[in-house]
Amino acid sequence: MPRALAISDLTVRPDAPLLIVDVDEVLAHFMAGFERFVGRHGYEMRIDRFALFQNLYRPGDAECLDFETGKALFDDFFRDGAEDLDPVHGAADALATLSTRAGVVILTNAPAHALESRTGWLSTHGFDYPMILHSGLKGPAILEMSGLTRGPACFIDDLLPNLDSSEQSAPAVKRFQIIADDRLRPLAPIAPDRHDFHDDWTTLGPALEAAIR
Ligand SMILES: [Mg+2]
Repeated sequence: MPRALAISDLTVRPDAPLLIVDVDEVLAHFMAGFERFVGRHGYEMRIDRFALFQNLYRPGDAECLDFETGKALFDDFFRDGAEDLDPVHGAADALATLSTRAGVVILTNAPAHALESRTGWLSTHGFDYPMILHSGLKGPAILEMSGLTRGPACFIDDLLPNLDSSEQSAPAVKRFQIIADDRLRPLAPIAPDRHDFHDDWTTLGPALEAAIR
C-alpha cells in the first residue's frame, strides 16, 4: 500500500524548474473511463455540458441522476475502476523529456481511498513522479510547492477554477490548460488570455519546454 505524500515530503531541487501536473483530463482520459465504468453499472453518460454528475442518466431518462447517486458512482470508481483509464497521447513522452531538466509533481484531486489505484495507474503508464492527493482549489498548494524552488514553476490542469486559484495564490507560476476529451473540450470554460490553452500535448509539451527554458 503506497503512503500518502504531503508537500513537506517532496524533495524538489531548489534551483530546478518545477512542473505541477493534474491527472484527470491532463494525463488520463477520465471522462471516457468513467463513462465505461457507469455503463457497466447500467447508467449512461451524455456529454452535453461541462459537468460530471449532471451528465449521468438512467437509460431513457430525461433527468440526470441525483447528486448522491452520481457521487456514489464516483467514489466507487476510485475504489475499483480507476485503473481503467486510457493515458492521454504524448503526455508520458513529453513529461519524460521535460523531467530531464525539471522536477515533476502530480497534484490530483481524488478521494483518499484513490491512493492505491491512482499511484498504480501512474506507475503503469510511465508517470513515475511523486503524487500529492488533494481536495479543493489548488492555489494554496501550488504556492507552497512553487516555494520549494527558485526555478520557474508551471501548473497544468483542465479546470478553470483551479487555474484561477493558482493565479490568485501564486501569480508567478505559469498556467496551462488542457482538456483531453474531445467532447468535453468545446464545452469547457477557458480563459486563454490568462491561462495558456492547448488541445493536446503536441503543443503543450513545447510550450512547457519554452516556459522552463
Ligand atoms: Mg483534472
